Amino acid sequence: MSRLVFLGPPGVGKGTQAAGLAQELGIPHISTGAILREALEQGTTTGLEAKKFMDAGELVPDSVVLQLVRDRLSQDDARSGWLLDGYPRNLEQGQALQGLLDEMGESLEHVIYFECAESELVRRLSGRRTCKTCGATFHVEYAPIPEKGQCEAGGECDIHQRSDDAEEAILNRLSVYQRETGPLVEHYKGQDQLVILDGAAPIEEVGTALRTALNQAG
Ligand code: AMP
Repeated sequence: MSRLVFLGPPGVGKGTQAAGLAQELGIPHISTGAILREALEQGTTTGLEAKKFMDAGELVPDSVVLQLVRDRLSQDDARSGWLLDGYPRNLEQGQALQGLLDEMGESLEHVIYFECAESELVRRLSGRRTCKTCGATFHVEYAPIPEKGQCEAGGECDIHQRSDDAEEAILNRLSVYQRETGPLVEHYKGQDQLVILDGAAPIEEVGTALRTALNQAG
């Protein structure tokens, strides 16, 4: 049974790796950022409450995110495992997740940490563009938007930049990451529970290293 947590700074590519691995393992890819963005699009109370934090690159309050995670982990498709991407993000959330798992009689299998230098993260995030319709991700330098960007839904892609990928929000997200998530990484390191991967490597290489590490860890 796979119960995995992906940890790492914004822009490290953990979402891309998470999507591929979760599909392969047949478990849900649970990204708290994606759940919050969807709530915001739908104009739910949670989404509207989260908006100001997200736009500024700050963390949404722990209690709000915990409720989302609790609801999602209790759904049927999460019974045979899950991959959490972007949660937990600080020590308190790490404790809350442990509490939730204890309640459910479950345990974490692996915590995978993707490392990358800050200068590379800024380059990746500031050039990132997404299609609003099909969710495809492009990059102005590394994965340019095709001239006639064909959307999976048919027609042309509707390209936009995430509001929190603006320069000021990026810098804040990175400093929030250091301050909030840094201690959580240290905590898992101390528990010998961490698989560390080089997130600066090309996508395919990171994917191979991820699968090798998981197979070795058993
Ligand atoms: P992400 O897509 O993971 O970069 O998340 C985008 C934004 O959603 C973050 O900058 C936060 O504002 C919010 N968010 C996502 N996950 C969490 C979390 N675990 N705790 C608090 N806020 C979160």
